[in-house]
Amino acid sequence: PLAEIRLAKDGTNDSEALHLTHADRIVFPKLEISKGQVAEYYAAVASLLVPEIVGRPLSIVRCPDGASGTCFFQKHVGKGWGPNVHSIAVEEKSGTDENLSIHDERGLLDLVQMNVLEFHPWGAPGDDLAHADRIVFDLDPHASVKWTRMIAAARDVRAQLKSIGLESFVRTSGGKGLHVVVPLSPPAPWDAVKNFAHAVAQAMATLKPKEFVAVAGDKNRVGKIFVDWLRNGRGATSVASYSLRARDAAGVAMPLTWDELGRVKSGDAFTIKNAVGKIRRRKDDPWEELKVLKQALPEF
Ligand code: ATP
Ligand code: MN
Ligand code: MN
Repeated sequence: PLAEIRLAKDGTNDSEALHLTHADRIVFPKLEISKGQVAEYYAAVASLLVPEIVGRPLSIVRCPDGASGTCFFQKHVGKGWGPNVHSIAVEEKSGTDENLSIHDERGLLDLVQMNVLEFHPWGAPGDDLAHADRIVFDLDPHASVKWTRMIAAARDVRAQLKSIGLESFVRTSGGKGLHVVVPLSPPAPWDAVKNFAHAVAQAMATLKPKEFVAVAGDKNRVGKIFVDWLRNGRGATSVASYSLRARDAAGVAMPLTWDELGRVKSGDAFTIKNAVGKIRRRKDDPWEELKVLKQALPEF
């Protein structure tokens, strides 16, 4: 079930509701989607999105002039933000960094009020930042790669992982590609996770050199899919499931079952316009099993 969060618009006197200013301002001009509609989207998916990000260090993408204006990544709390926007201490070589974090749905909506469009959490839980509980294989297609190859690529990565005993899950990125996600329980140290992700990316490129490349850089990627393993270092983030993307199409990062993947037509097939309908029609969370799986990082 999706959460019911009441949004009060400018000038109303509804003390129980979350207040949103400039609700009529257009955020996605191509689709004529307003800030109020963005807030309604996030209120509708809050019960699914918040568990993906709660307590974790968070990077956000803010777009004060809408998705077609200048957008920027930010990981620190701004002055005068809502009372439900918190921070978490992250130890860096240079000292302690207070990284943005939220505790609940109200924090999510306070960020929407600050013109946040995208949510990108760490792959580590807030109470154990030294250990990753998720590996993300971010499949990035060169512009010439047809979508059917992306579907096959995600299935290939899944099969490779399965051959070493790991279950994986797939989502659209809401942009151009797909993410294959491996939950780790118990979580594993970042160095080991990054080395493992790199090794899997290299294995894919060795097995199917016409399809995959494991080295970053546009030149290397021509005609191929970059298995971007670099999302898996300490401090790196990936977009959260159910986050919008600050791009013209207003895509949504949508978790899928492996069966559904074959019917999906692009990385931004799910958008602010159709994602909530899709979620409501579903009987089950496609990633239900992810939460209960006990799989450790293999020795390699
Ligand atoms: P697409 O499918 O279009 O590739 P994507 O989300 O996978 O969408 P990428 O460009 O492949 O996008 O990956 C970029 C990822 O790196 C983002 O999801 C984000 O989490 C992270 N990232 C990029 N720049 C920054 C930044 N300045 N600060 C924090 N995280 C960043
Ligand atoms: Mn990507
Ligand atoms: Mn990438």
